[in-house]
Amino acid sequence: MAMLAVQGQVPVVSLAQLGDGPVQVVCPNCQQAVVTRVEFSSGLLTYLCCGGLFLCGFALGCCLIPFCVDRLRDAKHTCSNCKAVLGVYRRL
Ligand SMILES: [Zn+2]
Repeated sequence: MAMLAVQGQVPVVSLAQLGDGPVQVVCPNCQQAVVTRVEFSSGLLTYLCCGGLFLCGFALGCCLIPFCVDRLRDAKHTCSNCKAVLGVYRRL
């Protein structure tokens, strides 16, 4: 497996247009018009919600709920053709 991902440098493709749903872009890697694949990962807001719930006195299990809620997580867009990372939509 070739290492395509470069840590700390995410290619920018009209980031303003990225949301938490698939968008159509021209992939800079394979030059194809593709609809992005979206993967959700835990972001800063997820941790803040977790901390907030914890401080409010919820049991340990409840403060992990934000990690299961896509609305609170960062959306990573990848090319559906070549799998390149096109950009990351962050909540904050
Ligand atoms: Zn591509």
